[in-house]
Amino acid sequence: MFILSSPSGAGKTTLSRHLLAREEDLVMSISVTTRPMRPGEEDGKDYFFTDSNGFGSMVEKGELLEYATVFAHSYGTPKDFVFDALESGKDVLFDIDWQGTQQLEARCREDLVSVFILPPSMQELENRLKKRAQDSDDVVQFRMEKAAGEIIHWDDYDYVVINRDLEETLAEITHILRAERNKRSRQTNLHKFVKALCDER
Ligand code: 5GP
Repeated sequence: MFILSSPSGAGKTTLSRHLLAREEDLVMSISVTTRPMRPGEEDGKDYFFTDSNGFGSMVEKGELLEYATVFAHSYGTPKDFVFDALESGKDVLFDIDWQGTQQLEARCREDLVSVFILPPSMQELENRLKKRAQDSDDVVQFRMEKAAGEIIHWDDYDYVVINRDLEETLAEITHILRAERNKRSRQTNLHKFVKALCDER
């Protein structure tokens, strides 16, 4: 489970898209949310969009691995997709906030790697939010006000990367993912492989 968190506008969505295109065996966890769809977003691709009744019913049925209120809307991670993907040998990429990260850590610490993406400056964060042009000025201001509250959670994370340049940041994140995949404890077929190596002689 590979988590990317950041304040809104730090480049996480772009980074996720590029990472998914480059990395085999990595799939995205698509969250469910009560937030209104933004222009250009698709139901089932960016999020599963629902209302508060639909969300409440998923919570009641225990269908969410974690959930939280972010910017006055509910967001959560559907459980079955994640466990099915992990069981089939895939890694799962999450774009969730610090509250969701804490909940996943409490449930599955050993299976989880978390990365916090910082913007190079608050000015740059605001520029990116404005450039995105998907949200109204009020929403941009609201998100800027909330950004510091998210950034203070940077030290809960395993890794922290400052997103000054997309390609550089992507390279850093790819290194983290690959190094973590090479951890002995994650290479569950290694015993068999080493035995076969030894048997060759
Ligand atoms: P946005 O509305 O900009 O798509 O997302 C707002 C925030 O909600 C982002 O920080 C994003 O990481 C977080 N978020 C998205 N999906 C989930 C989720 O399933 N769980 C949690 N805890 N946070 C989420």
